[in-house]
Amino acid sequence: MNGPNCNYNPETTVLCHSNKQVHGKGWGIKASDEHSFYGCSGCNMWFDSMSAPEEEREHYYQVAHERTQEKFKEKGLWEVVINDDSWN
Ligand SMILES: [Zn+2]
Repeated sequence: MNGPNCNYNPETTVLCHSNKQVHGKGWGIKASDEHSFYGCSGCNMWFDSMSAPEEEREHYYQVAHERTQEKFKEKGLWEVVINDDSWN
């Protein structure tokens, strides 16, 4: 994520999940991996701390989320169907 509290240590990197209810987050339930991003322990803590301004968290989430999606695609973990004709 490379957020304000980033420690830039890849060894602490985990898959972090969105806290938004619209992303499936609930009490004791994590959002799905679809709404996630790679972040180090510093970024994960910063993102989860409600003291960080919502707008700032949202901004860093969007950037980190897109970069993570790219990583998923590189690894073949994710396939985005842009034009799925089967719906027609
Ligand atoms: Zn970080």
